[in-house]
Amino acid sequence: MSTQTTIQKEISLSGVGIHSGKQAHVTLSPAKPDTGILFIRSDQNIQIPATISHVTHTTRATTLTHDGVAIQTPEHLLAAAYGMGIDNLIVTIDTEEVPILDGSAQPFVEAILNAGIQTLNTPRTPITISSPQSIIDKDQTISIIPSDHLQITYILDLSHVFVGIQTVSVIITPDSFQTEIAPARTWGFESEVQALLEQNLAKGGHLENALIIGKESYLNTPRMTHELALHKCLDILGDLALLGLKRPITGHVIGFRSGHFLNTQLANLLLN
Ligand SMILES: [Zn+2]
Repeated sequence: MSTQTTIQKEISLSGVGIHSGKQAHVTLSPAKPDTGILFIRSDQNIQIPATISHVTHTTRATTLTHDGVAIQTPEHLLAAAYGMGIDNLIVTIDTEEVPILDGSAQPFVEAILNAGIQTLNTPRTPITISSPQSIIDKDQTISIIPSDHLQITYILDLSHVFVGIQTVSVIITPDSFQTEIAPARTWGFESEVQALLEQNLAKGGHLENALIIGKESYLNTPRMTHELALHKCLDILGDLALLGLKRPITGHVIGFRSGHFLNTQLANLLLN
């Protein structure tokens, strides 16, 4: 049976939030067994556990709230922790939104690797999927089926634009996470940018931290084939990390057009 982990030493990162546009300073610190991932808003003196019961919004990004104090866009950091097998972590942040950095999970993976991984003695409590389950919302579906490992398959249907259909399937290990999932950046449509700004979203978004889909081509260069669908896998992993200490999950997740809402619904289903 595998045991829990944390990081070996403290490490800091800073950057702007993609929606708030606010500068954030983040420190990742080692945590005791059974802590899970715990956010501390140092400007408010509030602790916010990264668990499904603290999710309050899933529009565009996931928001966690405790005592009226929020953490926005934690999913790429949570995906990095999950993908690298980190169970326990204290994340101290001085504002409401986790920095977007380059739009992917890679800077968080590098921070974790620089800090080093510490194995603890406490056993994990894994989730094994015994029967297939699906959640459907309008034209979106997420399913999980029994498997010997954690695998994520995603079908992205952008057949109405030049992108077409992207299908990816990755067995999640720390190695595959680092090479195939972590580098995939967040993305959006050029045509949506103005509307997002009007809703007070995407104020920190630009071509350095998101892959932007224009009318006939990308406005910047994709890092990898199927980067859009691979980022969707990254988001699924970040939202499944909200199962907290119930990890690792052994099952095959299949997303079709799904996003944070269905991802967090699946996490809710697996919790019970
Ligand atoms: Zn994302």
